Amino acid sequence: MAGRPSIADRYVRQEQFAPLGADGQATLRDASALVIGVGGLGSWMAEILTRAGVGRLRLADDDGVDWTNLARQAMYTEADADTGREKAEAAAARLAVINRDVTVDVRCLRARPDNIESLADGVDVILDGSDDWRTRFLINDLAVKMARPWVWGGVVECRGQTMTVLPGETACLRCVYDEPPAPEKERVMKAAAIGVLGPAVAMIASIQAAEAIKILAGQRQAVRRGLWQIDLWPGEWRDLAGARDTDCPCCGMRRFEHLGA
Ligand SMILES: [Zn+2]
Repeated sequence: MAGRPSIADRYVRQEQFAPLGADGQATLRDASALVIGVGGLGSWMAEILTRAGVGRLRLADDDGVDWTNLARQAMYTEADADTGREKAEAAAARLAVINRDVTVDVRCLRARPDNIESLADGVDVILDGSDDWRTRFLINDLAVKMARPWVWGGVVECRGQTMTVLPGETACLRCVYDEPPAPEKERVMKAAAIGVLGPAVAMIASIQAAEAIKILAGQRQAVRRGLWQIDLWPGEWRDLAGARDTDCPCCGMRRFEHLGA
């Protein structure tokens, strides 16, 4: 049909967005991201980045899809829940039909101290979709040690928080929190215990994906500094601590306890 946009026009609306432009789009094509956990946050982030044309994605998750996921997790279907299909595999299959140009590397495993370095090998940014504090501290240690940017995100009920860490430039997770909550405390704080609202997940994932796009497009100056908390139900947005702590055991002292180093 004459005048109908074709595959060559796929990213035209993004390229029209002046801060990105055609150069930014070309940079995204050559970039790569690791998404740790492709549940609520991770599945939205992976879909957004795939549609945005980020060239290579690595997805890490050892969970299968279940029926409690479908109310908020992008990409998954009733058939996936019926069969308990591995999330990373189900996500990769969906992403392959969304954008043929994106290479997706599937790792059906959970990030641990002994595998996170190889998981993060060669990626330009790490995105937290883990819903797990120990994993976040592990990502933070690795990211600071390897000077790799990462974007933390978490959601329970309709409240979410997110922070982007640019090692050596911005506060890291341990500048803000000394250590993960005790396991018994974390259990009662989780979405699995107190519930979660789909739009809150999509909102935090969208912010994380936007920060990743800034980083991958080489626009670090646009990255948001500090911790951002959002409560979607009453519509409240709060800026919290964002300053680096010079005594931080991780980015100050360079002790990477969560990596076992
Ligand atoms: Zn720090």
